[in-house]
Amino acid sequence: MSKFWSPLVRELKPYVPGEQPKMQRLVKLNTNENPYGPSPRVLEVIRQQADDSLRLYPDPESERLRGVIGDYYGVSPEQVFVGNGSDEVLAHIFQGLLKQDRPILFPDITYSFYPVYCGLYGVDSRLVPLNEDFGINPEDYRVPNGGVIFPNPNAPTGRFLPLDDVEQIVAGNPDSVVVVDEAYVDFGGDSAIALVDRYPNLLVTQTLSKARSLAGLRVGFAVGHRDLVEALNRVKNSFNSYPLDRLAQAGAVAAFEDQTWFEHTRKQVIAERERVTSALEKMGFEVLPSAANFIFCQHGSVSGDTLAARLRERGIIVRHFDKPRIDNFLRITIGTDGQNDELLWALGELTG
Ligand code: PMP
Repeated sequence: MSKFWSPLVRELKPYVPGEQPKMQRLVKLNTNENPYGPSPRVLEVIRQQADDSLRLYPDPESERLRGVIGDYYGVSPEQVFVGNGSDEVLAHIFQGLLKQDRPILFPDITYSFYPVYCGLYGVDSRLVPLNEDFGINPEDYRVPNGGVIFPNPNAPTGRFLPLDDVEQIVAGNPDSVVVVDEAYVDFGGDSAIALVDRYPNLLVTQTLSKARSLAGLRVGFAVGHRDLVEALNRVKNSFNSYPLDRLAQAGAVAAFEDQTWFEHTRKQVIAERERVTSALEKMGFEVLPSAANFIFCQHGSVSGDTLAARLRERGIIVRHFDKPRIDNFLRITIGTDGQNDELLWALGELTG
């Protein structure tokens, strides 16, 4: 605390990202990165792009990238907004669309950045408890609100809400913006982008950090009605007109163009997720059904914080949240088959 801090900064409770340890040879399964690396074509394009043109500003509107994303999802480029990671896109959404007179709704167990944006932008919120099985009940979102946001699949649970239920929430809230944060959708869910042309209040966000393995490049996007996208452009152009640098724009285009790599790596992650899930169940873990690149699980007799600490001693880092309802759970990112083997071996010893 310093006397120079503004009253707002004094009150902020910033997001704490999963640790990025400096140690070598770690099995790092704590921040839901993709273990397989980006498409080689993305790397080639980024290398080519690292030339004299870097003295020039990038395209502020990222037109080519918005066109490629629009083609991929069958929407027009005017329905696509891109930003520096989906976290930045979400920040603009909170400021430009979710800051209303009424409180917004989101699940009690969800992406922990949402309450942080509420603090930063002065957005009122009301937590809607997940049901006993950690699922979202669409009926719970039929109360007056200033907006709705939830991830699908949800984080950190990994549970996917079927598209019919998503539609029920969107259709039941015609006067509020409903944001579906699909950071993990490519690992097993159907995208609500299929619904955007029917619902002017629906905005879907995605990221290239997970299934396209580009967390380090920082590219995310939102798709929705052009009026919603225009709100985001107004915020962006009042904040930073060049959120995506030249390398990020070129690399992101190449990532969408290499469909083969995308399909291959995401299927590997899905297959490994199923393998890890059944192995853990045999060890006495309860594993929530996951449509993401991570699983959320608890053991019948050894506590989550003990397991996280013991795994760490063996150089295996997973995420444990010290929060009500989920403090016995571990969130474990699916790694390469070798990393998953190390994890399973260690958990077998710790719980056996
Ligand atoms: N939404 C959810 C649910 C996430 O877990 C994450 C990753 N922490 C993000 C959005 C943001 O991802 P990025 O900024 O890398 O696009």
